[in-house]
Amino acid sequence: MISAEDMAAREPSRFKIVCEDCGSLSIKVADPANSPNATLVRCGRCNAVRGTLEELHDLARRGNDVFEF
Ligand SMILES: [Zn+2]
Repeated sequence: MISAEDMAAREPSRFKIVCEDCGSLSIKVADPANSPNATLVRCGRCNAVRGTLEELHDLARRGNDVFEF
């Protein structure tokens, strides 16, 4: 449960759900379970940087289950 106060205090995630370069939803992370939060997550199609693992986890916690691994 996220309060309105939390929403206001929080910046929206910078993670790109859809790749700005190729429009793909696909992402790839070498080893998500054993990588630090600052690890870059890349596009599964064109290899562009989409965000960090921390941002990805943030989205997952909010229930946005839209990724194709
Ligand atoms: Zn891409």
